[in-house]
Amino acid sequence: MTGRASSTNSYRFPRVAVADWDAFPVGVFKASTVFFRDTAELRRRRIDVGHGYYYGLHGTPTTRALVDRVREIEGARQCLLAPSGLAALAIVNAALLEAGDEVLVPHNLYSYNRDLLRHFLPKWSATYRVYDPLDSRALGAMIGPATKLVWIEAAGSVTLEFPDLRGLIRECRERDVVTALDNTWGAGISFRPFDVGDGLGVDISVQALTKYASGGADVLMGSVATNSESLFRDLREANLYLGYGVGANDAELVLRGLPSMRHRYELQDRSTLALARWMQTLPQVQRVLHPALEGSPGHAYWKQTCRGSACLFTAVLRERYGREQVDAFVDSLRLYRIGLSWAGPMSLAVPYDGQPEDESQVGLYGTNLVRFAQGLEDVEDLQADIEQALTVLSR
Ligand SMILES: *Cc1c(COP(=O)(O)O)cnc(C)c1O
Repeated sequence: MTGRASSTNSYRFPRVAVADWDAFPVGVFKASTVFFRDTAELRRRRIDVGHGYYYGLHGTPTTRALVDRVREIEGARQCLLAPSGLAALAIVNAALLEAGDEVLVPHNLYSYNRDLLRHFLPKWSATYRVYDPLDSRALGAMIGPATKLVWIEAAGSVTLEFPDLRGLIRECRERDVVTALDNTWGAGISFRPFDVGDGLGVDISVQALTKYASGGADVLMGSVATNSESLFRDLREANLYLGYGVGANDAELVLRGLPSMRHRYELQDRSTLALARWMQTLPQVQRVLHPALEGSPGHAYWKQTCRGSACLFTAVLRERYGREQVDAFVDSLRLYRIGLSWAGPMSLAVPYDGQPEDESQVGLYGTNLVRFAQGLEDVEDLQADIEQALTVLSR
């Protein structure tokens, strides 16, 4: 044992002042513990998620920089980060729902949000019902005194219906019901969630930053944005009590993705629309779901609101093919890989067969759905890949 001063366990850190520098990248601040000069400073600074640097869990200069960028992208005054898109959805549900409340969800609700509601609402003595996103009048008629929250998907993750966004928001606003949008597909690029036209906007916009914002398929993160100070207070409180924090290294990865986000979005949008149009003409394909295609559910609403249509389309293959043939087709793809998520650099394909126990709308379109998520590859190569895989399907 050496003396106290020389022990490697008795660190005496110099105080680090903020250096006088300027550069494009944001510093990566990883501290859980932040030092206070004295007890007076400790008492002065309080936990305030999104402000100050009090304790790593509640935000760092790195995550604050990301919060500011996402606020800009969403067009919102307030924003908080969560460790995944699903965690961001959970914050909204936990912040708003109380015993006796009812939630209305579209039939194409993101499936893990549905699982979350199905699991927790009975414990919270709350309930949910399912509405048709293309029928805003019917939604208005479903809203009752217990309705607290309406979830909106634009567009649905697998079946890609684009909702009557303005109509849904108007029905909820007239009845003082909070609207929460899963804005992962639009990403703040296709439309402005807080300004969708006619003076209408949602109350809360959630994004899985895992998808477009990151663009790297190498990080999980979510965001919750709002213009309402009272909603933000509730959301921030829920976030604080749930103990959701975001690592500075992860925040840095997302910050690196943001400058190229719009270009990636537009490039993937172009490839996707070109492939969707081409697939519509193929004899093996019954129909293609993609909101920018005429005849796709909600196309008119998409046209009313959107400037782009993201990287997803779903091909419904002809009924004569069985599940084995559909799977053999997907297995024959070479450039497209089989995997979840989207908006990353690599293209992905996933079959959906709309099982009857699934409450979602998938089954209405048959049992032969394949969702294609386009990455950054050349569109000619992607088309050639689908073409060679289609040879396993008889004409
Ligand atoms: C991926 C996704 C989520 C969840 O994001 P994770 O970061 O994977 O939890 C939520 N909503 C939509 C529409 C998504 O595509």
